[in-house]
Amino acid sequence: MNIKIMPKLLSAIRQLRKHENWTRSQLEVSQADGLRRLREYAYAYSPFYQKFHRGLEDRPLNELPVLTKAMLMEHFDELVTDPSIQLEKVREFASGNADKRRYLDRYWVTATSGSSGHPGFFLFNEPEWTTVIASFARGQEWSGAKVNFLRRRRMATVASISPWHMSSQVAVTVKTPSTPSIRIAASLPLENIVQKLNTWQPDLLIAYASMSRILAEEQLAGRLHIAPEKVFTSSEVLTDQMRRGVKAAWGDEPFNQYGATETADIAAEHKLCRRMHVFEDLLLVEVVDQQYRPVPPGEYGSKLLVTTLFSRTQPLIRYEINDSVRLSAEPCPICGLPFAFIDGIQGRVEDALSIPAAKGGKILIQPLVFNRVMDILPVSGWQVIQEADLTLTVLLSGARNGIRDEAVADAIRKELASEGASVLPIKVQHVAEIPKSASGKAPLIKSNIHQNGRIV
Ligand SMILES: [Zn+2]
Repeated sequence: MNIKIMPKLLSAIRQLRKHENWTRSQLEVSQADGLRRLREYAYAYSPFYQKFHRGLEDRPLNELPVLTKAMLMEHFDELVTDPSIQLEKVREFASGNADKRRYLDRYWVTATSGSSGHPGFFLFNEPEWTTVIASFARGQEWSGAKVNFLRRRRMATVASISPWHMSSQVAVTVKTPSTPSIRIAASLPLENIVQKLNTWQPDLLIAYASMSRILAEEQLAGRLHIAPEKVFTSSEVLTDQMRRGVKAAWGDEPFNQYGATETADIAAEHKLCRRMHVFEDLLLVEVVDQQYRPVPPGEYGSKLLVTTLFSRTQPLIRYEINDSVRLSAEPCPICGLPFAFIDGIQGRVEDALSIPAAKGGKILIQPLVFNRVMDILPVSGWQVIQEADLTLTVLLSGARNGIRDEAVADAIRKELASEGASVLPIKVQHVAEIPKSASGKAPLIKSNIHQNGRIV
C-alpha cells in the first residue's frame, strides 16, 4: 500500500458514499458542474481539444465529436494536458518493470493490449488514481463486502497478469499485509489455477465471467475446495448459465462489474437489487447507434460514449467504447440509488457475427442468439467459431448426459433461421478445454474471418 495515498483514498470512498444518497436532480447538477470543469480544463491545457472542439466550446455534450481510441493514440502528445508526457517515453517506460514505479514519478500507467497489436496507454495523476481506486472499492462495497483495510481478507484474481492491466496496478496500490492478494494468470492450465486457489483459500474471488463458470464446475466436481464470501466477475458478458453455476458452487450469484482500462469501473451490481448501476457521479454515458445517434433507454445501442468527469491528465470526452448495452428506462425502485442501471449487455459489437442472410446480403447475429441455445446444454464450456469459409464450428467441453451433436446443430440452425440467416453447415466438436486467448479469456463467439476487438 502506498501510505501517502491511504488517507486520501478513505476520504474519496466516503465522498462517493455520500453521492449515493443524492436525488436525481442533485446528481444532474453535479454532472453539469463536473462536465463544465472538465471542458474548461481540456480547453485550457490540451492543444488537441482546443482544435477538436473549436467553435463548439459552448455547445452541449451531444453535439461534440466522438473520440475513438485510434484518434486518442494518434494525437496522444497533444491530447494530454501535461506537455512533459510523450507517448514514446511512455512506451519506453512501460517496457520496464511495473512495480512501484510511476512515469515521471507522478503518473500511474495502464495499458490495453488490443488484439490489433497497438496498445492504448492511459495515465492517471494522484487525484485521478485515488478516484479510480475508490471506484473499484465502491464496486466491492456494493456487494456487501465492506472495504476495510484493517480486516484481513484474502483476495484472488484470475485474469490477465500483464503488469500494465488496470487491475494489476490497482492491486499494487492497495496491497497491504492485511489484504493479501494473488493474481493467477487465466491463461494457465486449469489444474494449476485450481491448485493455486486451493492453497490460497480466497475470501474474495475475482475472475473473468467465463472463468467463474469453469471454476464453479471444478468446485462442484470436487476438485476445487474454496469458500469465497463473494465472487466478482468482469470483462466478459455474464450469462444466466454462468450465474447459476456460481450460485450452485458457492451459494450466491456473482457480482458483475463493468469497466474499461480507460475509465476504471463504469458500473457494478448492488446487493439490494442485483442491478448494475452506472457510476454516474464519475462519468457520463451515452448509448448510441452505429452513426452515433442517441438510442433511448430500453433499447440496445451499438456503442457507448463515455465522458470521464474526473479525467484531467488525458481528458476523455465522448470516448467510444464498442459495447452494445441497454440502459434502464425507469429508475431502480429497490436500492434507492440515483444512478441509472444497465439492464443488458450484449458485449462488443465485434462479437456479433456477420452471417449470410436467407434473403441475400448479410445480417449481424448477436452473441445472445447463441446463448439461447448453448446456455441450457449440460456442458461446462462452449465456443462458437465462424470459420473463414463461413461455416460454424461449435466447441463443447465437459459434455454430460449423452448430448447429441446433431440436436445441438439443429437447435442453432433453428435460432439462426428465426433471425433470418441462411442455413449454414455446423460442425460440433468435443474438446477437453475451450482454448483461451493470450490474456486468458475464453470468448463465447469467435470469428476467424477478422480478428478485431479490445482485450482489457
Ligand atoms: Zn438498484
